[in-house]
Amino acid sequence: MKKLIIPLLLISGVSFGQTKLRPAIDKKANEIESKVIEWRRDLHMHPELGNQEFRTAKKIADHLRSLGIEVTEEVAVTGVVGILKGGKPGPTVALRADMDALPVTERNDLPFKSVNTATYNGQETGVMHACGHDTHVAILMGAAEVLSSMKDQLQGTVKFLFQPAEEGVYDADIAGAELMVAEGVMEDVDAVFGLHIASQMEVGKIGYRSGPSLAAVDNLEITLTGKQAHGASPWSGVDPIVTSSQIIMGLQTILSRNVNITQNPAVVTVGAIHGGIRHNIIPEKVEMIGTIRTFGDEQQALVHKRITEIVTNIAESADAEVDLKIEKLYPSTVNDPALTSKMEPTLTAAAGAENVIYMTPVTGAEDFSFFQREKPGLFISLGGMKKGGDPTKTPSHHTPGFYIDEGGFTLGVRVMSYFVVDYMGQEK
Ligand SMILES: [Zn+2]
Ligand SMILES: [Zn+2]
Repeated sequence: MKKLIIPLLLISGVSFGQTKLRPAIDKKANEIESKVIEWRRDLHMHPELGNQEFRTAKKIADHLRSLGIEVTEEVAVTGVVGILKGGKPGPTVALRADMDALPVTERNDLPFKSVNTATYNGQETGVMHACGHDTHVAILMGAAEVLSSMKDQLQGTVKFLFQPAEEGVYDADIAGAELMVAEGVMEDVDAVFGLHIASQMEVGKIGYRSGPSLAAVDNLEITLTGKQAHGASPWSGVDPIVTSSQIIMGLQTILSRNVNITQNPAVVTVGAIHGGIRHNIIPEKVEMIGTIRTFGDEQQALVHKRITEIVTNIAESADAEVDLKIEKLYPSTVNDPALTSKMEPTLTAAAGAENVIYMTPVTGAEDFSFFQREKPGLFISLGGMKKGGDPTKTPSHHTPGFYIDEGGFTLGVRVMSYFVVDYMGQEK
């Protein structure tokens, strides 16, 4: 019994000691709700692609300066970093919002429908906040306003990371969170928090998961070179088409026979295959490209090793030459287990226990993972679907009908602010 009682007392002692500023946060967050909505609508109407978030950055920087927050601009091209020093010494807590939009043409009929277009990779396209990063920026601008209103009582420093280019850019090797980390933004940080709006999760809900939560994403490129032959006499050549089909089927055994599926899923998808020109010619080359999704460094290493073995050994058995490239893009988003369990009471306090969902792993990826590789971090999902909506009929992220209900923004402002004051431990 003693063993049981002691941890319970410790847990309640910790959460009780951190609650002092929560009512003030709630009050201020409610007061600024209409401002947050206004900022978000303005950002939604004027979306900007990765590394081109000039108007967005200016809006953020102006707002932070108006609150007396120390601002650095042009971080990782178009990012903005704000420093809010509390009245008392303590840890540095970073809050992150990504700023970029996507090359998608909006189909929603909204008064604040996107008006922007751009050239993306040589193509004219509409630009849309089709992943909801406009809501992240507005929510973090709101949290900055809430936290700066109680600056004297904060025990530590808040670092606001407004990050460009989360969706990646085609014309730079390093961008977004990875570049911010390379520029040193995480050096003085003790913990980092972020959220993502979710178009298919009801307003009022928060989702989270401990450990690997979102996948690592890696690109796969395979070029097989055989020996061209007449289609009527395949024995005189080396057929890269047959070999490529063996490889595609072989890759699927990694997931069914090598990955421990009771722990985490993984995905290997061949998304394109090109080879050949007509019925009766066995071509010289076949090219395949695909995507790999894994959870955690250990699983990623295993899957990469098996891909390499299967591809090279099947090619060798067919007498074909192979060029295999695996390009690492974003690592897995791993929520630090100790930090996550420490912050669970914060999630419950912000949303109510019945609204906190323990999520299954998500095979999408997020470059928030680069921040988490430097310091412990927690990344949560925030509901953005109207109450009573059907997630199966609600447009997903990155689509022209993507839509976010504004009713969840205040919860976003509150939970980001709670993360700061709870982590700092206001009554120590
Ligand atoms: Zn996205
Ligand atoms: Zn996103």
